[in-house]
Amino acid sequence: MTKKQAKRQTPTTLTDVQRSFKAERSCKTHLERQRWPDKIPICIYCQKPAFKTATGYKCTDRKTCKGIFNIRTGTIYEKSNVPLPKWFTAIHYATRKRGINSIELANEIGVTQKTAYRMLEQIRKLFRQVPPKQMRDIISIDEKYFGGLEKWKNEVDRIGGTQGRSTKTKIPVICIYHWSGYTHLRIAKNAKAVTLKMIIKPLVKPGTIVITDSLKSYNWLTKAGYLHVSLNHKAGEMARGCFHNNYPENVFHHLNRFIRGTFLHVNKQNLQQYLDWFCFLFNNHKQDKCLALINLSAQILPTPAIILPVAKKVKKAA
Ligand SMILES: [Zn+2]
Repeated sequence: MTKKQAKRQTPTTLTDVQRSFKAERSCKTHLERQRWPDKIPICIYCQKPAFKTATGYKCTDRKTCKGIFNIRTGTIYEKSNVPLPKWFTAIHYATRKRGINSIELANEIGVTQKTAYRMLEQIRKLFRQVPPKQMRDIISIDEKYFGGLEKWKNEVDRIGGTQGRSTKTKIPVICIYHWSGYTHLRIAKNAKAVTLKMIIKPLVKPGTIVITDSLKSYNWLTKAGYLHVSLNHKAGEMARGCFHNNYPENVFHHLNRFIRGTFLHVNKQNLQQYLDWFCFLFNNHKQDKCLALINLSAQILPTPAIILPVAKKVKKAA
């Protein structure tokens, strides 16, 4: 085994998913085991024990609760007639490097585009970003505006004075990148100091080295107790010693390809969900994500945010 192969965890391949989850029954059993490891079904309404019936489960508390439910109730699979093997295959496709769009997914698993769109909408609920306790050491912060250049739009649709840092037609996305490789993306109302303060302060510990560009909205960082390194790109200062701001640029570069290459266009309302999806794939690119997500999908929504264990470094090639 080469060093490169050893570093990566064995991924769950499409063949694995299709072999392990051939029938509806095996999928249901898997979800049941994930939700109730001690094999005692629990009522989703009152948390008391339940018993199995022909179609699902019934609560044992027949006086006050009378809850009737099945394994799909309350999860991402609720109100869906699509068989679970197709759902699991969709999850496999959603954890690919660049994700998947609804038209491609519809062709792959044999459902309509509308159904595939809803399935992806539901699967996106699993990718919730959790900021680690509080980031410290070295952080790079940058912002990018999503919404496109006016010059590529039809003349009728063009709106004047919307370029640069204007938020009339565009949404600022803030990237907070920890130098260990963890990235956190958040949409913001604007790039003013007050907004940035609200986003950055809870995530980054005072005393951290924070590298930014020379935008004035970052000037409060020194007062707040951060070691602020402000790079003046306009004056040609791309790096100061070993400090540079290339990591967020790299994240935005990949994010651009993720959105434009796979989806072409995303709704403004759903942009944060796509950012969460991207961050999950970016932060866990060395881990097996498919099975972890299938296991997580057994839980009631909103599911706890998923944090995969970091792949261990291999000292020597086996
Ligand atoms: Zn109950």
